[in-house]
Amino acid sequence: MKNIVLFGPPGAGKGTQAELLKNKYKLVHISTGDVFRYNIKNETELGKLAKSYMDNGDLVPDEVTINMLKAEVENNSDAKGFIFDGFPRTKSQAVALDHFLVEKNSSISGMVALEVPENILLERLLNRGKISGRPDDQDESKIRNRFNEYQTKTAVLQEFYQQQNKYFGVDGVGSIEEITKRLQEVFDKL
Ligand code: AMP
Repeated sequence: MKNIVLFGPPGAGKGTQAELLKNKYKLVHISTGDVFRYNIKNETELGKLAKSYMDNGDLVPDEVTINMLKAEVENNSDAKGFIFDGFPRTKSQAVALDHFLVEKNSSISGMVALEVPENILLERLLNRGKISGRPDDQDESKIRNRFNEYQTKTAVLQEFYQQQNKYFGVDGVGSIEEITKRLQEVFDKL
């Protein structure tokens, strides 16, 4: 199985690139943010729980997120592999994912990280907010809080995967096509 964590701060382009790469590599794309948004739209219990955290740009609690991710993986039992987008975002989530995959005789093939400077991220997110209407993309203070959550809770995962020799950084600035090409060079090796 090819299981790839597509990593990077909010606005790095994970969702856009995962959509392109999942077809090429025949992988199932799981975006935890998309699953939460789907649940909010459909007013499920999970959606109600996640909404206040997401509206503020805070992370949803680990236990809720981990259980949801596991259910998504179980729902795709015939998958050749996964692109995880927006998960893991904390050390506990990463540890839980490793344990879960071991139970399935599988593992993470690699973390592929899109590296983009913060001024470009902010510009991209505010633009996306205008087009998509995502409330967490329309307010600069919420965006700044998401960057802060990323720096304080998520960025440590680089080291977590580096220690396992599974971290691959990719320049995330350029055209969508250029970045896809750079990512493919890494995906092909995993
Ligand atoms: P995203 O679409 O990846 O930018 O995620 C949007 C929001 O969903 C985040 O700001 C969090 O509130 C929530 N979220 C998505 N994935 C996770 C995760 N792995 N852990 C906790 N919260 C998450």
